Amino acid sequence: MRVFTTTREIQQYLADLRNKGLSTGFVATMGALHQGHLSLIQQAKKDNDLVICSIFVNPTQFNDPADLEKYPRPIAHDTQMLEQAGCDILFNPEVSEMYADNEHWHLALGEIEHLLEGTFRPGHYQGVTQVVYKLFNILKPDTAYFGQKDYQQIMVIAKMVELLNLPVKLVMCPILREEDGLAMSSRNIHLTAEDRLHSLILSKTLNWVKDNFDSNNIAVLQAKAAEAINTEDGVSLEYFELVDGDTLHPANQSTKKVVALVAARVGKTRLIDNVLIG
Ligand code: AMP
Repeated sequence: MRVFTTTREIQQYLADLRNKGLSTGFVATMGALHQGHLSLIQQAKKDNDLVICSIFVNPTQFNDPADLEKYPRPIAHDTQMLEQAGCDILFNPEVSEMYADNEHWHLALGEIEHLLEGTFRPGHYQGVTQVVYKLFNILKPDTAYFGQKDYQQIMVIAKMVELLNLPVKLVMCPILREEDGLAMSSRNIHLTAEDRLHSLILSKTLNWVKDNFDSNNIAVLQAKAAEAINTEDGVSLEYFELVDGDTLHPANQSTKKVVALVAARVGKTRLIDNVLIG
C-alpha cells in the first residue's frame, strides 16, 4: 500500500494511474477502523482497479470540541488493517495540509442540512461537505463508497454532488453490526461495559419497529419506540423518527421507502443507527 500525506504527491501519483486508464474507488474515513469500514473497502475492490482510503479526523465537522479531542487515532493499527484488506493507496494528511487558516465554506444544501442530525449537530454537514468536496477534488475517484450507517450523510453528499455537478458515482453500503446487533462504530470503544449492554436498546428497537411496521400507525410506533429507548438505563434519546427515505420528511401512509433513524446518548457516548423498512 502506498501512503501519502501531501496533496501534491498523491495528485501526481493518481494522475499517472488515471492516464493508464485505471478506475478508482474511494472510501473516506476518520480512522479507528473496524469491519464496517473494511466492508466498504471490499466493495470498492470488487468494483474498481484500485482502492483509495483516506484517514482524516476532520475538525470542521465536530461541533463538540471534547468529541474531537477524544476521537481515537490508532494510525499504526489502521494502516496495518488497510494493508491486510488489500487497500492500494492511503491518504493521511495533517489538518494544515487540508485547510488554510480562516478558511470559510458554505454550501446551500437546503432543509436536509437542518433535519435530524442537523438539529443536534449544527454546522456538522457544512464540515462534512467541506472535507468531502476537498477529498473528491484531490483524489478524483470514479466511485465513492459510504455507509448506510450515516444515512443522512450520504443524502447530503448526494445533494452536493448534484448541486456542484461533481463527476463521481456514489454507492451506499449496508450497516455492519456486532453479533448482538450493535452497529459498528469508531465511538463504540468509549462505551463502558454497562453502556455496551444498554446500547443494544437502539438496534433492538429499530428491529422491533421494522417487524411491527404498520403504515396506519406510524405515530404510535414512533412513540412506543421513543419510550422503550428513554426508559433504558443510562440512555438518553435525541430522536427516533420514521421518515421518507428520499426526503427525510415524516413518513405517512403513502410513503414507499421508510427509514427509521435513531440518535441517543449512551452514557457519555453519542450513537446513531437506522433501518430501512420496505
Ligand atoms: P467514519 O470513519 O465514521 O467517518 O466512517 C467512514 C465511513 O464508514 C462512512 O461512510 C460510514 O458511514 C461508514 N461506516 C461507519 N460505520 C459503519 C458500519 N457499521 N457499517 C458500514 N459502514 C460504516
